[in-house]
Amino acid sequence: MIELQDIWKTYADGTHALRGVSVLIERNEFVYLVGPSGAGKSTFMKLIYREEIPTKGQISVNGFNIGKLKPRKIPYVRRNIGVIFQDYRLLPKLTVYENIAFAMEVIEAPKRIIKKRTMEVLELVGLRGKHASLPQQLSGGEQQRVAIARAIVNNPSVIVADEPTGNLDPETSWGIMNLLEEINFRGTTIVMATHNKEIVNTLRKRVIAIENGTIVRDEARGEYGYEN
Ligand code: ADP
Ligand code: ADP
Repeated sequence: MIELQDIWKTYADGTHALRGVSVLIERNEFVYLVGPSGAGKSTFMKLIYREEIPTKGQISVNGFNIGKLKPRKIPYVRRNIGVIFQDYRLLPKLTVYENIAFAMEVIEAPKRIIKKRTMEVLELVGLRGKHASLPQQLSGGEQQRVAIARAIVNNPSVIVADEPTGNLDPETSWGIMNLLEEINFRGTTIVMATHNKEIVNTLRKRVIAIENGTIVRDEARGEYGYEN
């Protein structure tokens, strides 16, 4: 469960990115975050994965008050949250296998478990045959699948995805959405920022709209609600 209580975020240069955001996201929900560029969507997600801390207000993820976390506790919270970006952010000199296994090495999982689990998630994202490829040898959709495999390899309870289909063609985007739905179906909460009207209006889910740092709309099975 993710809970934001009257969250304000002001960056060092004085930009007010969030202004009094309160919201509750239950375990196993799939939520779309929509709104114009600069509205505060990325900031909202960065607070969830503790890339940023709130200026004011409380945010808790699975019962941890993550704005007040002691530094040595941060890795424990981070491993429980998988993050996916528009531009994949794979390590270019590591193979597909190594990119995924790396996320488990960081948390010091035993080698045997790493191998088993890495092959398991590669299978799940449909890329078993690509384990030895380098990211640049893959199409954009395949690279995003690797990024998804990396995000789920440690079995996080939450996935945060910042425009995961932003660089992909429509057909590839649907494939990525099917995969995210499958992951959600298996029990992972998903928070996804998107500008993809087509997807939001077809795969209907909860929609939270942010404008100017505040939530202006929050609907179960909502619509995209913008021209584009
Ligand atoms: P969105 O994801 O909806 O495009 P962001 O959360 O990225 O919105 O940005 C919200 C506002 O905060 C914007 O005005 C943006 O320019 C500003 N902003 C984002 N990150 C920083 C930062 N590190 N320093 C200063 N301002 C920032
Ligand atoms: P897209 O046009 O969809 O981005 P590509 O045409 O780049 O995809 O790739 C099509 C297929 O060929 C993919 O399965 C990709 O993994 C494979 N591929 C592309 N470039 C290479 C390469 N240099 N070595 C091995 N496989 C490659």
